[in-house]
This record gives sequence, structure tokens and C-alpha cells, in this order.
Amino acid sequence: MRVLVINCGSSSVKYRVIDVGSGEALTSGAIERIGEGGTTHASAVAAILQDTAAFEPAAVGHRVVHGGERFHDATLIDDDVIDAIEACFPLAPLHNPANLAGIRIAREALPTLPHVAVFDTAFHVRMPRRAKHYAIDLELANRLGIRRYGFHGPSHAYVAGLAADFLQTDVSNLRLITLHLGNGASACAIELGSSIETSMGLTPLEGLVMGTRCGDLDAGAVLELVRQLGVDETDHLLNRQSGLAGLSGLGNDLRDIEAQAAEGNDRARLAITVYAHAVRRYIGAYAAVMGGVDAIVLTGGIGQNSVQMRRRILQQLDFLGLRLDEDRNQDAEVSAATPVVDISADRALVRALVVATNEELMTARQTARVVGGGTDVRSPGPVPIAISGRHAHLDRASMDALFGAGSELTVYRYLSQPGQFAARQTVSLIGPRGRIDKVRVLGPLRQAPQVEISRTDEFELGVDAPVRASGKTQGSAPITLEGPAGNLHLKEGLICAWRHIHMTTRDAEAYGVENGDQVEVAITGGDRDLTFGDVLIRVKDSYLLEMHIDTDEANAAELSQGDSSGDLLYSSPDVAVSASLRRKRAR
Ligand code: AMP
Repeated sequence: MRVLVINCGSSSVKYRVIDVGSGEALTSGAIERIGEGGTTHASAVAAILQDTAAFEPAAVGHRVVHGGERFHDATLIDDDVIDAIEACFPLAPLHNPANLAGIRIAREALPTLPHVAVFDTAFHVRMPRRAKHYAIDLELANRLGIRRYGFHGPSHAYVAGLAADFLQTDVSNLRLITLHLGNGASACAIELGSSIETSMGLTPLEGLVMGTRCGDLDAGAVLELVRQLGVDETDHLLNRQSGLAGLSGLGNDLRDIEAQAAEGNDRARLAITVYAHAVRRYIGAYAAVMGGVDAIVLTGGIGQNSVQMRRRILQQLDFLGLRLDEDRNQDAEVSAATPVVDISADRALVRALVVATNEELMTARQTARVVGGGTDVRSPGPVPIAISGRHAHLDRASMDALFGAGSELTVYRYLSQPGQFAARQTVSLIGPRGRIDKVRVLGPLRQAPQVEISRTDEFELGVDAPVRASGKTQGSAPITLEGPAGNLHLKEGLICAWRHIHMTTRDAEAYGVENGDQVEVAITGGDRDLTFGDVLIRVKDSYLLEMHIDTDEANAAELSQGDSSGDLLYSSPDVAVSASLRRKRAR
């Protein structure tokens, strides 16, 4: 599939047509100086569409910087998505309006093609809340959406994937620190394939020293600057006149600064050391946050090209297990043909990799995946979690016995798995020691009755239910059900559900698992992070990607619980808590 990738910024529009299968760029270009000499976003996009029409792209992928809380993944653009991108304007006033202008113009000109928004922030959406929150008034922060969002998502995800391939290890088994060091710069801690911390925050101004952006700065210093200079001038100073440019007084290009430093220019030297120091601080911090690191990945114009800066950043990290090989660093040259070069010494425990990023290819792949034409494009993301309360499945005979001959289940609420619903009907469970009332019946009717309870319920009822996959009730525990039309004793059918993940064949391919595999799942982002072992993979194309656990398991990980009536509660898929999956063994 061919995808036209458009990156519509405030002062330039960049574009590329990419063949997703081969990864090859068929054409590319940029139109600069938007807003000058009559060049508008509309005229730029029109020229691009004309230039690229001959390549007959099948879809258009748009870079969108800020997806706020809503977008966890690349998304097919419709009017509702446009409204949501617009709602993020206050969070990215420099970027989102320009991104959206490009989308509107391209959609109007190419109405028959699918358009997909690929968000910089999406990769970081499921960061644990300890990494997301700034320590300011919580209610105010929530109301204004002031928290860490993170950026450069496609680049961090892309280089992490290439690094994992190079190391011949599944990304879900690696702890990575990825350093995107270009004109903009950010660091990312990636654990189990997910971003768990990143240096850019509410805006792309926080974190590392950049070409013209300041990076970390005491909030008190910002206040003082605002008092002295006013808001607009401070904004300009911190975004456009700071960083390498501000320190060196020589502009934002590290090549010029390195050349001047070699001539003895002290400000140039200062800029270089402050820059490297900031990166090293983040390496140390992220290694601590993850309890270690397997590889440090350098990318972006500086990470890929500056031998000297790489040396300054990676020197004397032996205590971490990282040892730079000076010759390999000197000779490292990444390209499309050789996108990964290892610059660490042979026996180093932590690898240092230079990786060529390709945000456009990542955007094209994600676009192709969303429109259904991609291959091997899904980087496994976090798995939404649903919490099942105790519940009963009935067959025709048990329905007749409990609710009267010919009675039918009525829908109380549809559940996330297609066709499944919580019924209005409830039953009581009666065991040797006690009873539990108001146990929800799930529909539709099945071939055989089955009752699923938690370990805590077992104590209450005085029963001993085996842990079983759904449907495997042979030889399971007995239980008595009570309904409005009578009681029913089941000789078997009572189980404690085996925690499991529903997924499609496509999901399974992306995660590298098969139906029946057992995996480990790490829950992060809640108050009590926890790794579940023995999680069963269940694959069917009609399933929706979702992990099902019971209320005891949810309690252990401090996830939102089922309510006291024993209702079936499903946590919303966009909760901050998420599960990352680590393959344990293939069956
Ligand atoms: P990017 O935004 O990823 O394109 O990175 C652009 C920046 O990379 C430039 O502004 C330079 O500072 C830096 N850069 C590119 N090539 C080199 C090089 N050979 N040596 C040092 N810095 C470089």
C-alpha cells in the first residue's frame, strides 16, 4: 500500500509518499515559509497533492502533535475526530491548528481516500500516573489538562522496534532508554514495549536541551522572566532563543557549534557540555526508574551523526554496565540499508545503539494498519483491562428451570465483547456454607450452564471451584442456583475463571502469541503495580482486544472494583491503568 504522509507545521509542510511493503519513499519534499509571499497552507497542500497524484496513494497519514487524553492510537479521521483535535488546540497552540489545517484541506481535495491521524502523544498515553502528574493542585491540573503528555511517539516507538529486532529480543522483554536528539529532543524509558516515562511534558519545551528550546527550567525562573519580559517575549525566548542557540550565541546547528568549540570558543564549549549533561541526567534517572537498562538508543540528527556528542553522553557509564567502543562510535554510520549500529564494547552488559529514525515510515505504517492494508505494522501496545464480577451463563434448560418455561433473557447492558450482554435477570448461588444473591446472568444462552466466581466467593459459599478456561466445565464443582421460578442443582459448572486475554488473529500476530499460549502481564499505572503469570491467550477474529480478570485479581492490583451487588463491571478502556504483555512460553 502507498501512503501519502503529510506533516503540516506552522511554517512548513513536509510530505512523502511511502510504499509500506518495502518501506521505500517514492517521492518527498517540503514547502517552507508558509505565511510569507502568499504561500498558505492551502496552496502548499494543493501543490503537494499535485506532485504526488501520479504515485496514486491509497491513504493519507497526517502527523498530529497533540492527541490529549483521548487518542491512544492512530485513528481514522471523521468529523468527530476533527472536533477532538480542535479541542486540543490549547494544549499545542503552535502545532495542532497547523496540523488540522492540513487535514481539512487534504480531506476536501481527496474525499475518496481514507485519512488517518497519527499522534505524537499516543505512544505515551498509558504512562503510569506517577510519571504523568506534576505536583500541583490536582483538581486544577485535571480541569486544565496540565500533565505530562510526551511527544516524538512515532520516533521512540520506531527506534525501539528496530533496536529489539537488532538485539533479537522481543521488545516486551527489554528495558530501553531511547534518546531522540534532533532539533527537538526527548528521552523515553520503554519497559515491556510501553513508554513509562518521557522527558517532554505538557508541551515539547520540557526536558532535554534542544536546538532553540530551553528544556528543564525552574518554574520560578519562568515566573521571573514573565515578570521582567511579559508572556509573549518569554514564550519566544524559551522556545526560539534558548537551548544550544541561546547558550552558544551561534544558532541551533550543532555542527557549527562543534566547529567553533574546536577553535576555542568558550560559549560553544559550554553549550555542548550543558547539552550532554542534561542527557546523562536523564539516562541515570531512567535507569533508576526501570531498575536497570538493557540498551540505550540514540537517534535524531545529533544522535545519528555527532560522534563527539555521543562520546560525551556515553562516557563513564561503566557503573551501569555500558562501555562505549571508541572505534565503533567513530565509524558508526546509519542509513536506510544499515539502520542500526552497535557502538558498545563486546562485553558490555548494556548495549549502546545508533538507530536511524524514520517517523514518516512509522506514520505510513500506522496509517496502513488503520485502513487495513499494512503488514507486520502493529507495535504491541498496552492491553485494555476489564474486570468481571461473579456471573452465570445459562442454557435453555436451566433458564426454563430458574425463570419459567420459555422465558427469555432481556438486555441490561451490552458488554465489550461483540454480542455479549449483561441480562436484567439475576440468580442466587447457594453453597454448603452460605449464599450470594443478585448474581448477574450473562447472555446470550449457551450450550451448557457455567457459573464464574472469585476465590473470595468460594469462602462465602463454602465451595472449592477449580480454575478453568470458560467452557471447560467437565469435572468442575457443583452449585445450587435459585431463580424466581425455582431452584436448580448443577452437578458441575462452577469455576473460578482462568484470567485471559481476548484478541483477534491480527493482535495475536502483533504480540507474537497463539491461541492457548500463556503469558505474563504487567499491570502498571495503578497504585499497586503487579505482574500476573499464567494469563491465557484466547484468539478469535470476533474478539475485541481485552484482558479479563476477576474482582480478587483486580483488588490485588488496586484496579477499580466490581460493585457490591455483584454486578458485572467493565472498566472503561481508556483508564490510565493498562497491561503490557510479556510472552512466557509458546504452547
Ligand atoms: P533533526 O531535527 O533530527 O533533523 O536534527 C537536526 C540537527 O542535527 C541539526 O540542527 C544539527 O544540530 C544536528 N546534526 C546533523 N548532522 C550533524 C553532524 N554531522 N554533527 C553534529 N550535529 C549534526
